[in-house]
Amino acid sequence: MKIKQSYNYIVNVLKIFWELDRVLLFSCIFSALIDSSIPYIEIYLSAYVLDGLAEGTPFQSFLQIICLVLLGILVLKILRAYLEKVSAVHGALCYKKFDMLLARRTLVMDYELLDSPTVNDINTRIRNDHNWGSGFYSIIYQLPMLVTSVINLLISMIILVPFLGGNHLLIDGYALIVLLLFLLICIFYMLFSVQKRQEMHDLMDERNNDARYASYYLWNHHAYKQGMDVRIFNGQKLIEEHINQEEAGYKNWIKELTSNRCQNGLFGGFSTGILQAVAYLFVALKAFGGALSVGSLVKYATIIYQFSAALSGTFTMLSEFTLSAKRQQSTLDYINIADVLPKGTIPVDKRGFCDIRDNDYEIELRNVSFKYPGAENWSLRNVSLKLHVGEHLAIVGMNGSGKTTLIKLLCRLYDPTEGEILLNGVDIRKYDYQEYVSLFSVVFQDFKLFAFSLGENVAAAADYDREKVINCLKKAGLEERLASMEQGTDTYLYKGYGEEGVEISGGEAQKIALARALYKDAPFVVLDEPTAALDPIAEYDIYKRFNELVENKTAIYISHRLSSCRFCDDIAVFHNGEMIQRGSHEQLLADEGNKYYALWNAQAQYYV
Ligand code: ADP
Repeated sequence: MKIKQSYNYIVNVLKIFWELDRVLLFSCIFSALIDSSIPYIEIYLSAYVLDGLAEGTPFQSFLQIICLVLLGILVLKILRAYLEKVSAVHGALCYKKFDMLLARRTLVMDYELLDSPTVNDINTRIRNDHNWGSGFYSIIYQLPMLVTSVINLLISMIILVPFLGGNHLLIDGYALIVLLLFLLICIFYMLFSVQKRQEMHDLMDERNNDARYASYYLWNHHAYKQGMDVRIFNGQKLIEEHINQEEAGYKNWIKELTSNRCQNGLFGGFSTGILQAVAYLFVALKAFGGALSVGSLVKYATIIYQFSAALSGTFTMLSEFTLSAKRQQSTLDYINIADVLPKGTIPVDKRGFCDIRDNDYEIELRNVSFKYPGAENWSLRNVSLKLHVGEHLAIVGMNGSGKTTLIKLLCRLYDPTEGEILLNGVDIRKYDYQEYVSLFSVVFQDFKLFAFSLGENVAAAADYDREKVINCLKKAGLEERLASMEQGTDTYLYKGYGEEGVEISGGEAQKIALARALYKDAPFVVLDEPTAALDPIAEYDIYKRFNELVENKTAIYISHRLSSCRFCDDIAVFHNGEMIQRGSHEQLLADEGNKYYALWNAQAQYYV
């Protein structure tokens, strides 16, 4: 890893740390100061007592100092215990806040990006980076250790530099050789340790990037959804074989990783022993030369050892921290990824050239073509269509013909690759994004509900008009089910928020999604296959009441079942991403050489 790059990783994560929780940062620095200073206070106290005793000073005369110093240490330890509590609470909060940064970004990121290869790559990196306990918690955990090592190093240097350079103890002869030996071992140990750590992380990355590792995701205790298929198709053996193959690779890999750790540990223990011996040797040489008292001998020997531990600790923690900081970069890339959709500024009620009457909207697609990000094929090709206020348009076509894609472009989940969409003559990219989106109420084919209360689901808000929610649920056909719910609109859906939540069927979910679209009361209503999960009676009921449901709003109704759309006066037929026909059912059916006629006849047999 290059030094500049390492520096950037560290600065980036420290910046985030600073933004998320300054209390944690300060408590970590103060804790490190206390942790580092206590050993030195103890060393100085021991030296003071030893020298005193050697000089024959009566014990009582330094009893007062000893008590005072011990009291000081006690106060520092109480303060340290308090800081420990502060750090534990803020550490947990900081971790949560970091997670929330990711969640918040996901909530507001351009949908087009969420679904793009760029973001998919970042997500893969995040998943790999967060293996091995390398999430943001590693930063919270390692930062105090790094700060402690650095402060320790600084204190020991502040004491040692005058000692080594002082006039009373010039470095000479043997002492110089011993000192050089000492530094050599320190440097060698640091380099070895950094190298081993890098190798260990490389080994982890190698494993992360190994697709076979995914077999863990293939089958684990969360994967109960495949349980039915496993039983019916006797899939146990197949899965076990995959797991066994994976296990063989895992065994070799873990041997390599463990051997790396052992080498590092062994070398660490060996060098620490030598360093300690060298430190004592150095000071002993000086003591024999008569330059040091007994107290100073103990003091400097211990401090030199402290220095060597702090030096190697600083390097070890720095390399460890840099590697951990590097593993946060993917998350930071995710958080900082720039949105791609232009967000206009024109308010929607000052739109275009038309008379500004309420809900007077006209939408037009001009030669719109679209490819999904990273896709090779066109999902829409040269589509042009106009829709006036109050019109109801049905879009039909086979699966994959581009119907849903058209709706996604209309709602600005994506922007056209070519061509433009106009609202009252103005490119929709120029409108204020939030205001523009507020014009649409959509029931997507793969809509999702939240594990919140029924009322919150319908209103998409915590604070809602209960009467209006009930009314919309009734319109959507959920009246009976609602009556059976003891908590009414306060009933929680699913079990996500507690045992009292209710499970709902696919059809009921679809009705709730429809009620949500009605509650929003937007001028454009889009129903994308709104009846796929409904039983035939509920489906018939929705069709029958479609006009009543959408009232005088502009509505688009999508289905691959042609019979569902017969009731619309205006039907657009899509095929392979193109709009190939438009007209009423009768007009389209009259054109016997065309797609609608063929589709109608192909499907008609099911409805006879
Ligand atoms: P329909 O709604 O008519 O069933 P879609 O609009 O969902 O069809 O899909 C049109 C084409 O776009 C299909 O070929 C489909 O595979 C492709 N497609 C849909 N969603 C994506 C996506 N997120 N990424 C890439 N291709 C997609």
